[in-house]
Order: sequence, then C-alpha cells, then structure tokens
Amino acid sequence: MLVPDLTSYSNLYRPPSEAFSLILQITIGCSHNKCSFCSMYKGVQFHIKPFEQIKAEIDYFRSRAKYVNRIFLADGDALIVPTEKLIEILKYIKNIFPECERISTYASPKSLELKSEDELKKIKDNGISLLYIGAESGSDEVLKNINKGVTSKELGDLILKAKKVGFKTSVTFIVGILGEKDFREHAVATGNFISRCEPDYVGILSLMLEENTTIYQEWLKGNFKEADGIDILKEIKLIIENINVTSNIIFRSNHASNYINLKGNLPEDKKRLIQEIDISLNKHSLKEKKYRLL
Ligand code: SF4
Repeated sequence: MLVPDLTSYSNLYRPPSEAFSLILQITIGCSHNKCSFCSMYKGVQFHIKPFEQIKAEIDYFRSRAKYVNRIFLADGDALIVPTEKLIEILKYIKNIFPECERISTYASPKSLELKSEDELKKIKDNGISLLYIGAESGSDEVLKNINKGVTSKELGDLILKAKKVGFKTSVTFIVGILGEKDFREHAVATGNFISRCEPDYVGILSLMLEENTTIYQEWLKGNFKEADGIDILKEIKLIIENINVTSNIIFRSNHASNYINLKGNLPEDKKRLIQEIDISLNKHSLKEKKYRLL
C-alpha cells in the first residue's frame, strides 16, 4: 500500500473532546476564514481533498489502527463538502471502519446554510451524528464585529435546522471577546441565544489573543484592551443567569483558556454553577490581566 502524503496533518485542530478520535482531514482550511479572533487557518487556501487521496488516507489509517471508535472530520468546516461527495466519503469510512460509533465535524454557519434539510438528513443517516459549531456570541453586534458572517437570528435558525434533522450539537461561545468594553449585552444575548437553541453541549472559551488575527493587530495598535479576569467571571455568570432551558444541556467551561473550571447539567445545576463563580469572585481579586499570547 502506498503511504499517502500526510504533511498537511502537521497543523490539525480538533475539539478537546475529540482527543482520542481518529482525525481524518478531508478538507484543508476553512471556507469562511474571516473571523477576527481566529488564526487557525490564516494563510491557508481552502480546498477539498480529492476523493482518491482521502481513500488512500483512510486505507493507511486502517492499516495502522486496530480499533477506531470515533472519527473527527477536519479541517475548519468539513460539512461544507458537497453532499454527494461527503456521503461517498462517509460510505467509504463505514466500509473500512465498521466499528466506528461516532463521526463528527466542525460546521460553519455557511456550511449549514448551503445544505437543505434533506441533504443534512442524508448526511446524518450516512454517519455524521455530532456537529461542533462556533457561535461565539448571541449578540448581533458582536457577531458583526468579529466577522462571523451571520446575525444571531440566522445562526440560531441554522442550529435549530441541524437539531431538527437529528444532529447532536456542541456550540461554543467566547467570553472576553469585547476586551475591556461592557460585556453585558453580549452575555445576556448569549444566554438568551442558548435558551432559544438548546444545544446538547455548550462550551465557554476565553478569548486568547493570537498572532495573525485582526483582534491581535488591534491589540498591537492599542485599540483593543484585554478583559480583566474578574470581568470574565462576571461575564460567564451573566451568561448562565440568562440560560433558561427545559431540555438538558451539558455545560462546560473547562477549556485550557478558562479562568475557572465549570461543569454541570442545565437547568438543574444552574444555581450551583453560579455559586461556584461567586465563590471564585469572593476568593480571588484577579487584579492582573491574564492573557495567553500564542
Ligand atoms: S468559521 Fe471557525 S475556523 Fe473558520 S475562521 Fe471562523 S472560527 Fe475560524
């Protein structure tokens, strides 16, 4: 068997919960690639790998892995692959890895928008069960500022569309995205957004300033100032206070970027999560600004 060229795998990104999954890179880059805080695929020309190349990579991974329980399709929004081609890939995966129980991928707003409900249903029926969606905020103003390319209503509708056809959805939001500006509208709108969409999983990340991003350039010019750690905690608290759901949501704020580790199920753990933040706020006076520059 020919060993495929895997050099593009040297710069892979995946959600933390896919740490033990086989990462299969079916696209390179992100078809949107415009979010002001995101450096993941800057300078990378988006394209979809040829099917023969993807097949060769699947065959190669089969020869190296005895048992593959989960597969994550990379890169930034692999759901953008045209439906027929994506289904061809999924069928091949199922044939080569019959033991695989879960296939997941990132889904950008555009990738969800371009597909009809029928197409999404076919994709789900052919194996993808979980979509990771970076919503970042429920605020129209913030979404516009960070160049997400959608309004809050449009983004919420897309998440509901994915849920309607049966996908599990894992949606992330960013605190500190406004820097030291007033976070209240962002936090309240984000809580309301989560209440409307009721994703299966909600993750809160803190903004990390990274080179090659618009936000970083603004920071260099002095136009963006990082949020204070205390404000970050208050922002998370305000988001949680505004989440009112009836379906179960697994809530996590335990990414490496976060100031506090929070885990719980909503709605039942809402009070406890808020109490944990209050304890932290009382215990610590996070006076110094903490931002990780990568
Ligand atoms: S859609 Fe995701 S991967 Fe693409 S630029 Fe935005 S945050 Fe980055």
